[in-house]
Amino acid sequence: MIRSAVRVPLSVVLALGGSFLTPEIAAQEVASRAPIAERVAKMLAAVDAGRIETTVRTLCSFGSRHPLSRTDSDTEGTGAARKWLEEQYRAIAATAGGRLTVARQAVTMPCRRRGMPAEIPLVNIVATLRGTTDPERIYVIGGHYDSRNGRGSDGEGRAPGAVDDASGTAAALEACRVMAPHEFAATLVFVAYDGEEQGLLGSAAHAKALAAQDAKVDGMITCDIVGNTTGMDGKKYDRYVRCFSYAPTGNDSFGRSMARACSFAGRRHVGDELAVKLIFRGDRYGRGGDHRSFFNEGYPAVRFSEPREDFSRQHQNITVQGGKEYGDLPEFADYGYTARVTKIVVATLAELASAPPPPFVRGARLRREAYDTDIIYTPPVGHTRCEFVWRETTSPDWTNVVSQEAAKPRPSRGQQMIATLRGVCLDDVVVGVRMIGPDGSRSRVATPPEPDRFANRPGRGR
Ligand SMILES: [Zn+2]
Repeated sequence: MIRSAVRVPLSVVLALGGSFLTPEIAAQEVASRAPIAERVAKMLAAVDAGRIETTVRTLCSFGSRHPLSRTDSDTEGTGAARKWLEEQYRAIAATAGGRLTVARQAVTMPCRRRGMPAEIPLVNIVATLRGTTDPERIYVIGGHYDSRNGRGSDGEGRAPGAVDDASGTAAALEACRVMAPHEFAATLVFVAYDGEEQGLLGSAAHAKALAAQDAKVDGMITCDIVGNTTGMDGKKYDRYVRCFSYAPTGNDSFGRSMARACSFAGRRHVGDELAVKLIFRGDRYGRGGDHRSFFNEGYPAVRFSEPREDFSRQHQNITVQGGKEYGDLPEFADYGYTARVTKIVVATLAELASAPPPPFVRGARLRREAYDTDIIYTPPVGHTRCEFVWRETTSPDWTNVVSQEAAKPRPSRGQQMIATLRGVCLDDVVVGVRMIGPDGSRSRVATPPEPDRFANRPGRGR
């Protein structure tokens, strides 16, 4: 069936329903009949906006989840939130036959306040769904459960943090619930992060610990501020989610590859319900998020945020001024929207964790006698099935697919392969390779290095 996912002629594309369809999207439509699509459809059907609402409202009911709020109560403060979140993850684990483990990761927050200890203990709640055949490869999905109001150091005042970021915390929890009954080749890690508002403390500790173990994190998503769809202009913004990606060396480094994997999975499995808007920068101006901690450790990481944030809610005390309500309260959130963002997350994680890891692409070269492109790559051990993609350098996402059959890979040296993309002129385009699992799932795309000879000479020619 996937064999049909070759370069689809434009006539077929048009027949599939409209001139806006590119060959890549047409190929996805063909590929969407693969077993992975059926499996993901089951997971997506289970995503429940009502449960997301319950999670957000419960987290808000604790008053504040600031690290300096109460830790000695079951009904108030961050201690209650930690306990409740851990219980929710443990309840999911109880249904997963021992494959999902839940742990508290201890983190410390330095504190210079008089009469307070020099270090405040923080807690990440970490749920790990171990992979079956490639458990060393990891995908992380997080949201931060800590909250703040108008004053970042206020541990006493109310700080409901419904959208920032009970919404993302709820998305990660719901993703875990719908994915836990299924098996994946790679390991999935669902996290409720602490201390994001205090300087990304929880995620930094998590990412550093993973890097210290040399963990193979192939992708990280943070859902942060994914619950408001009413803009400050009163208009509704609920047709897309913004995907910010850090990239160390440009549009084809691993962060952007992860962002395109999100948009691919979204188009393939979620379709018209919600689009992924690629934004080729790490974050919004003057803002940060937990994906930054993973980028800092060299991991591919993206952030999902709603289209138009309501800044009269975030980081505000609850007040009414001139008839306008301020504060991040649960009554202003759109739980159906958070559920649709959760679907994009689930689709992306299921696709990537079911697929083989991306290949290593050593390079590409133009065959000057014919304007064909050779791509030189090493598939991951135990996998050979792949396909090739390309796009114009100015195009944000892949537009064309070339099947393995058409590119005819042949052995080069060692495990290395060479495939040829006929009629694709390398100098004008970006080419890449992605692996295909037995169920039709696709890995992230790996691309060859850019040809820029100055790139390797810091300080010269720039
Ligand atoms: Zn946030």
